[in-house]
Amino acid sequence: MTKRMLKVARKAMEKAYAPYSKYHVGVCAEAEDGMLFPGCNVENASYGITICAEVNAITSLIAAGKKRIKSLLVMGSGGELCTPCGRCRQFIREFASLDMPIHLADKSKVLKTVTLDCLLPMSFGPDHLAKKDMKKTVIKKVKHNKRK
Ligand SMILES: [Zn+2]
Repeated sequence: MTKRMLKVARKAMEKAYAPYSKYHVGVCAEAEDGMLFPGCNVENASYGITICAEVNAITSLIAAGKKRIKSLLVMGSGGELCTPCGRCRQFIREFASLDMPIHLADKSKVLKTVTLDCLLPMSFGPDHLAKKDMKKTVIKKVKHNKRK
């Protein structure tokens, strides 16, 4: 599978729009059913609204009706390991399990595979908000006790 993912990411990286940083990134996000989604970075003259390759790939995956990411491959045009930025790590967290593999690659091969938990330890995610109803109950009890 990673061979196909490398090809998808490489093709996406070739399409990156990075006239400012000249740093091209290609991503391949694998959905739970094995479908692959490419992403590349898309820069902007207003730097702050630049879109990372990871976000590009994951939003396509979601737009296609998929719910979860099974694995991710990130490829950078620099000589060093290209890891997702902080914002992307949190973005990935929304749609992936903590043990999801993230393959860090160059143009031809995977250099290192890490888990999401390795990149974003002690993270905050959707599971924290799932307990919201329980927190409301606790708050109501506290307020009720104060009235007495
Ligand atoms: Zn990013």
